[in-house]
Amino acid sequence: MALLSLRDIGKIYVSDTNVAVGIRGINLAFDRGEFVAVTGKSGSGKSTLLNVISGMDTYEEGELFIEGEPTSHYLQPEWEAYREKYVSFIFQDYNIIESFTVLQNVELALMHIEDKRARRQRAMELIERVGLSSHVHHKGSKLSGGQKQRTVIARALAKDSPIILADEPTGNLDSATSREIISLLREVSKDKLLIVVTHNFDQVAECATRHVRIFDGAVEFDHRLRAAEDAPAHTENQPTPKKAQQKRAFSTLKNGAILGRDIFTARPRLSVFLCFLMIIGAMGIFLSTSLFGGAGNLFKKNYMFTHIEGRVVLAKQSGEILTDEELKNIVSTYGAASYLHYDSLLDKGLYQGITIPADEDESAYRYIDTRVVYGKDYGKDIIGRYPEKSGEVFLYLPIAYRDAVGKKELKLSEIVVGDAACKVVGVKYFVDNNLPAECLLTETGFRAATACEFLSYDAQRSIFLTVTDGDGNTLREIPISDLSISFDMPSDKVYVNSNSYHNFIASEDAKGAEHHSEIDLTIVYHKYNFYGGGETKSFIYSKEFTDEDITDEKPTLSPLIALYRGDGTVISDELAIEIAESVLADSYKQASLFFENDRAAHAAAERLQDAGYIAVPSDTTHELDGEEAMLQMLSFVLLGAAWLLAILFLAFFISLCTARILSAFKGDMAIMRSMGIPVKVIRIGMYFRMMIALIPAVIVVALAALLIFTTPKFNLYFTYLYGFQYALIAIGMLLLTAKTTHSQIKRLFGESVKKSLKGGAEQ
Ligand code: ADP
Ligand code: MG
Repeated sequence: MALLSLRDIGKIYVSDTNVAVGIRGINLAFDRGEFVAVTGKSGSGKSTLLNVISGMDTYEEGELFIEGEPTSHYLQPEWEAYREKYVSFIFQDYNIIESFTVLQNVELALMHIEDKRARRQRAMELIERVGLSSHVHHKGSKLSGGQKQRTVIARALAKDSPIILADEPTGNLDSATSREIISLLREVSKDKLLIVVTHNFDQVAECATRHVRIFDGAVEFDHRLRAAEDAPAHTENQPTPKKAQQKRAFSTLKNGAILGRDIFTARPRLSVFLCFLMIIGAMGIFLSTSLFGGAGNLFKKNYMFTHIEGRVVLAKQSGEILTDEELKNIVSTYGAASYLHYDSLLDKGLYQGITIPADEDESAYRYIDTRVVYGKDYGKDIIGRYPEKSGEVFLYLPIAYRDAVGKKELKLSEIVVGDAACKVVGVKYFVDNNLPAECLLTETGFRAATACEFLSYDAQRSIFLTVTDGDGNTLREIPISDLSISFDMPSDKVYVNSNSYHNFIASEDAKGAEHHSEIDLTIVYHKYNFYGGGETKSFIYSKEFTDEDITDEKPTLSPLIALYRGDGTVISDELAIEIAESVLADSYKQASLFFENDRAAHAAAERLQDAGYIAVPSDTTHELDGEEAMLQMLSFVLLGAAWLLAILFLAFFISLCTARILSAFKGDMAIMRSMGIPVKVIRIGMYFRMMIALIPAVIVVALAALLIFTTPKFNLYFTYLYGFQYALIAIGMLLLTAKTTHSQIKRLFGESVKKSLKGGAEQ
């Protein structure tokens, strides 16, 4: 059985304008050991014949048999396999990879040699054989035509295939070198089928075993010149054992990786551009992921109340007011640690803008919403200490504020919480800038802040403070939200300062107050309802002051006294709370009890419910009803879809941008295919090239992550991402790489090698 036989092969070229006969009715059979010289006039169909034999071009008529197997049903993948197994091609117009060095071009054809050293050694041998030792590391683009052809010959020799096809291989070499190369070809292909197309038969006459002349697409004559070499017995392909298959898969991967690296480094400028695109892609995904970040919050637990370990929210079934006495009773009966009147602020969240100097000279300020809390423990690893007095505050801030507040020591000594100046005694920083900042106060501080917040800012109320003289005459009526008061005990004077800095000393207006340590404040509390009417209540607040009510410390939390700017002594927060709570006494319909832990809270809540109270542990979750749950699901799905869409858009954009890079590689890919490098290896190579291009993008994202974690400036401007979001970014990048590479491969491998080569040559 002949190695290769052609039966009635015909090839017709059809273009828009005309139809040309390439070859027609060719009947030839070839065997191992033959050296066939193909001659004929220009345009007679010699190249067409070689292209058909090599599987680089299709044929329309007849049948080509390889080792007896018909090939007319072959599709591109089968032709790829055919070329890989059988054919080496030496081109008329070189077709070497211009961006690769001579060594790389030759090593490309030596992929079947596993050992790197052996591969290199063999490549060097072949390069020496074609006389290019001095040009090993020269790029293809820097070689002369003759040198290119020698490289191609070395490459063709490198591949150990049974058929070597050469189309005018010596067309660009001088006659002496031509003879050398022809005999070299002959020497290394003694056991192979060597078909050489030439217009100069003399050059090959010494070695050729057969002479085929083509005329007008058909065989004119077919002469045997001398006996062909005896080819060694051909060993049939044995089924590959599993181990060998695994080994093959591994070497395919390894060769692909090496190829990917070589493609990447061969064209540095294009690769840099590719890296740049991938960075854009990665940062795009980074940003869209941080936008998507909010979606995770949708599935956080829905607590009905702010959950504080051990907290139970308490109210009466009847909706009546909970008095302090009653609460104190409950605390002792049910074993609570403490209680909080007017606790709904815990749930509303008391957000205070705190003002922090943003730069060294304090000319700029940042405002951040801070959740005012108490009773929290941030651990031991803190700067400064926890607050001990009501006017002291401990800050729990995003790392973005580290420069302004202090790295190792506190730089910031005072902040304004709401309206009140507070002394900063400690701070701790966190990196997750999705979390709220917190202002930790003492319990007293918190009560003063919440009570005064309630007094000052509840829109449904307007509260007046009326200063009366000893005889009950009203001297002044000032809305509380517009005022601050202070007491100056040593001189028994009451200062009432309004926000407009219009100060007056009560003791001067209220003659009776002089030398009295007892002050009457009439507080008129007007509560409007939604329908226009309302109720007005007056409280007479009488207090005999003792020294304990007075503090020497200027900073204090109460907005009532926050704007104090005089030299007087300020009332204690305890007193401020007392005043506020006396005003609010009739609105305490709800309170919170604090137990040791949630278990104790649940046990107590049950007992309280049995006793007829509404008692809800604060870890009770609020179940979403069907509609809400659906809405939540929908927003999650929509956000996810938006994220995916953003990725696909980026992928599309990057694919589009890389198309240009691609067309530059198109020719190279076609050459690799024509060399019979397995498509798998080329594909893997392209994936690897993309992976390498991904490295800078990964570094950029990692750097961004690191900066967000450690650098205040970045923490301020970029959203902190969680592990699962970085996983999303990784998935996104892989999707993007896959999509881009996939569309490249589709474009590259969709057509025959001949067509691609032409396209590539046009570059
Ligand atoms: P040779 O190599 O002997 O010079 P070719 O095989 O290149 O000849 O060409 C044989 C015939 O086929 C010529 O008439 C040529 O014009 C035609 N031909 C070759 N390639 C193409 C093509 N891609 N499209 C159209 N006609 C072609
Ligand atoms: Mg030709």
